[in-house]
Amino acid sequence: MGDLGSIIKVAGPLVIAENMTGSKMYDVVYVSEKRLMGEIVEISQDKASIQVYEETGGIGVGEPVFLTNTPLTVELGPGLIESIYDGIQRPLNLIYEKSGDFIARGIQVPALPRDKKWKFIPLLSAGENVQSGDFLGYVDETKLVKHYIMVPEGISGEVETIAEGDFTIEETIAKIKTDKEVLDITMLQKWPVRKQRPYCQKINPVIPLFTGQRVIDMFFPIAKGGTACVPGPFGSGKTVIQHQLAKWIDANVIVYIGCGERGNEMTDVLLEFPELKDPKSGEPLMKRTVLIANTSNMPVAAREASVYTGITIAEYFRDMGYSVALMADSTSRWAEAMREISGRLEEMPGDEGYPAYLGARLASFYERAGIVKCLSKKQDVTGALTVIGAVSPPGGDLSDPVVQATLRVVKVFWSLEAKLAYSRHFPAISWLNSYSLYNDTIRDYVQKNIHEDFFALQGEAMRLLEKESELEEIVRLVGIDSLSGEERIILLIAKMIREDFLHQNAFHDVDTYTAIEKQYRMISAIIYFYNQANDFLNHGLDIKQIEKMKVMEIIARMKYIKESEIYRIENISREIDTELEMLKKENEI
Ligand code: ADP
Repeated sequence: MGDLGSIIKVAGPLVIAENMTGSKMYDVVYVSEKRLMGEIVEISQDKASIQVYEETGGIGVGEPVFLTNTPLTVELGPGLIESIYDGIQRPLNLIYEKSGDFIARGIQVPALPRDKKWKFIPLLSAGENVQSGDFLGYVDETKLVKHYIMVPEGISGEVETIAEGDFTIEETIAKIKTDKEVLDITMLQKWPVRKQRPYCQKINPVIPLFTGQRVIDMFFPIAKGGTACVPGPFGSGKTVIQHQLAKWIDANVIVYIGCGERGNEMTDVLLEFPELKDPKSGEPLMKRTVLIANTSNMPVAAREASVYTGITIAEYFRDMGYSVALMADSTSRWAEAMREISGRLEEMPGDEGYPAYLGARLASFYERAGIVKCLSKKQDVTGALTVIGAVSPPGGDLSDPVVQATLRVVKVFWSLEAKLAYSRHFPAISWLNSYSLYNDTIRDYVQKNIHEDFFALQGEAMRLLEKESELEEIVRLVGIDSLSGEERIILLIAKMIREDFLHQNAFHDVDTYTAIEKQYRMISAIIYFYNQANDFLNHGLDIKQIEKMKVMEIIARMKYIKESEIYRIENISREIDTELEMLKKENEI
């Protein structure tokens, strides 16, 4: 630890020090003899402003500041999975063991365990040439995650030796001979959090990322490597939807950043997440999860850092060729942290006091999402990082600057609405206000690999739902009898789409997840019913008879049909035909 600066002012999480010549923006420094960690956020001549990640109470003018000349970095390597970190990657459980409920200041615990041995299995042998990103080997970090050990950034050369066996993350597992020297390679790497990890090439996000949640996959799909935003007004079912996504989204690794929600809410996450089970393997979900937890009673600057810590860890697993889903809750709290620091720096405020660079910061965060061809030339793998950010605007007001800036960069908006939750419509994602801009990009893929008429059905179902909301207005004003038979069928089918398709019970064994093929069959059955009923209506059948058809009970129960019995959904069209034919006969049409 290098030269000394000296504190001239302390303002909450912001400390100003002089004598800081030689320091750079975003360098990490340690403040006072207590060695509180901080990061330089502004430099002017020999003075530097430092955002401090720990409580600054009791720190005074004249105390020293120690320079490190390195930026804020995270540790990457085996031991990440199942960890619960704070915003600057301190392992909360270990800190808890060391210092109890309240994090003692200046405490330093390594992010990854130093003493644990991992069984390293090499994937190549001495004599081979390697470059950054190539997989040297792997360790089975948990039952669910094979952790590939990659050649670190900037290194290429010939593998001189490579070992097999049990090693700690600091022991040498390989030696690489570069142009200049022979380097010892360990399983531990470091990366500055504010810098994107490199990849070979970004690919268009054309592959859908299914979640098993019908309203999402069928109507507002997200692409692998895509971005989405979800507001979470109180009582709207936000926790349930987040758990559902964490469990069912088609991802190998989940990174969950709990960013400064109220302390008790975060406690819920810490208690609940470790309880969740990975549905496919029955193992705890934590075996493929990294949690970052910042409560709002932790210092604001650590909250600002937490999203970078999280996304860097997520990128690292993407580089192994995995599909990674990052969930950040809530980015509004992150933006508030930015606002507080900016205010203390006396920067020119923009909308509602947020800094003028709010939009740019949000954009550069979401830009780290994507589907990429990874750096490795040897392995030729593709990795995807999908980012889902929750926003929690004050009073649920969507004109809030954070929401608006987010909507300018993300491609999907799942409008979670409290009023739907009150009427027990779950998941409470509005079918009228949500949108997905991926419908176009994934179209080719879906039409080739799922079903040719997928989007035709989606469009028709959506048309009926939109029409329903227009008709409801008329019904409210003049009553249902004013509607034509065709309009009443639309109401009937729209209700069917809402109740038999969009309603999805997260707590029902079968209903909790619906494979895309089953989703397609379900919506096909409903649209088939609509078309046939319309046809018979035109041939003189009475709407009241259609409204009482028995097949509707079968349709209402199709969500509970197991995937292995999907033929029962396919058979529904025959049952519709049979019943309609019967009605036709009875009425002598
Ligand atoms: P929030 O986190 O927004 O306050 P929760 O996610 O805890 O709300 O949801 C509140 C309640 O709503 C849950 O306890 C549950 O009863 C119900 N709920 C939410 N989503 C669903 C769902 N998909 N299926 C069934 N019930 C749900």
